[in-house]
Amino acid sequence: VTDPLSAALAALLSRHVDLEEGQVADYIPELAGADPSCFGISMVSVHGQIYSAGDAELPFTIQSVSKPFVYALALSDLGLPRVARHVGFEPSGEPFNAISLEPGTGRPANPLINAGAIVTTSLIAGDAFPRIRDTMSAFAGRALSLDEDVYRSEALTGDRNRALAYLTSSQGVLARPANEATDTYFRQCALRVTATDLAVMGATLANAGINPVTGHRVVDEDVARITLSVMSTCGMYDHSGEWMVRVGLPAKSGVGGGITAVLPGEFGIGVYSAPLDAQGNSVRGMAALQDASTRLGLHVFAPVGEARTAIAESTVTGSALNLGLRGEINFTAAEQITRHIHEQVATFPISLIVLDLTDVTAVRPIAAELLAATGAGLTGRGVRIEPIDPSGILGTRSDTDPPPPNP
Ligand code: GLU
Repeated sequence: VTDPLSAALAALLSRHVDLEEGQVADYIPELAGADPSCFGISMVSVHGQIYSAGDAELPFTIQSVSKPFVYALALSDLGLPRVARHVGFEPSGEPFNAISLEPGTGRPANPLINAGAIVTTSLIAGDAFPRIRDTMSAFAGRALSLDEDVYRSEALTGDRNRALAYLTSSQGVLARPANEATDTYFRQCALRVTATDLAVMGATLANAGINPVTGHRVVDEDVARITLSVMSTCGMYDHSGEWMVRVGLPAKSGVGGGITAVLPGEFGIGVYSAPLDAQGNSVRGMAALQDASTRLGLHVFAPVGEARTAIAESTVTGSALNLGLRGEINFTAAEQITRHIHEQVATFPISLIVLDLTDVTAVRPIAAELLAATGAGLTGRGVRIEPIDPSGILGTRSDTDPPPPNP
């Protein structure tokens, strides 16, 4: 029996399987042999559940979908300011293999076009390829292997990428000799993945850097956030603006036919279908993701309504207000709670507020600060706040949070 989510994904594939437009990439000769009819999708939640349909376990080479993950590794090694001296984070609006170097600095526009990706790869210190392979494997939650034939095929024909590497080298932004940087880049592009791997990799970014299937932290929260930001503005090359409007998910495509898309805090999605449009994006993959975004309501900028309210219960008994909170209390939730408390205090003769945190999963430092300030303001008006906090959530914090404010 398939679960209803996998069944929904299968239905999604069936709506686009007849789409016959596009061409399998052949500028890397070894890619030309891909079966144009194969089509698969996987969706992985930040809780680590995997749903999939079609050829979700069929291996193909990751190609450019590797770029954001190698960027994440460079950011982890060096931090954004040092990485940004070599590669920017502005969309170029140009094709993937464009010669797009910033006048003056010579930096490639962003890490997701080839010039920027090769520079990013050159920043990986030490034994670069094994480190890249291990990081991508940690993102995928399994050991990824190299497709030697695709690697050799690109290494033999990749003169344009070598030319880009020499250009960036002449500008002083490439951190290694050009032939070394391109060789590592060709290997990173030839790592074998499946649609499910791409979904897990995306879900790791969605989950603030922790692989939700293995539970391992791969990169920190800041790195995941920066990587997703760059994917949202530059991930689909010269189609990035239209993609954001129509689909609204940070994503990265590759000429192997794979696409990773991410709904931050919720899901990673991986799709695979080899035929590409003129921009180098999988035709069926894009159609499936646009459909998924519309039907499942996944657009990042879709308005979020009261369904996400942090207030699960609010009752006034005599002079006591009982407030039951739930989920993660972030800035928005704290604003809502503060506003609600002030409305209630203005309406009823309240002298005690019982704040039940039993169902709260996390309290962000800014929320703790705002709630403490609200409490302090009310004390002056004769209203006392009494938290029920059985798991001590007010005292705990995540490892990337800044220190909590003094109480
Ligand atoms: N290895 C490919 C290249 O550099 C990746 C391009 C892509 O996937 O868009 O040409």
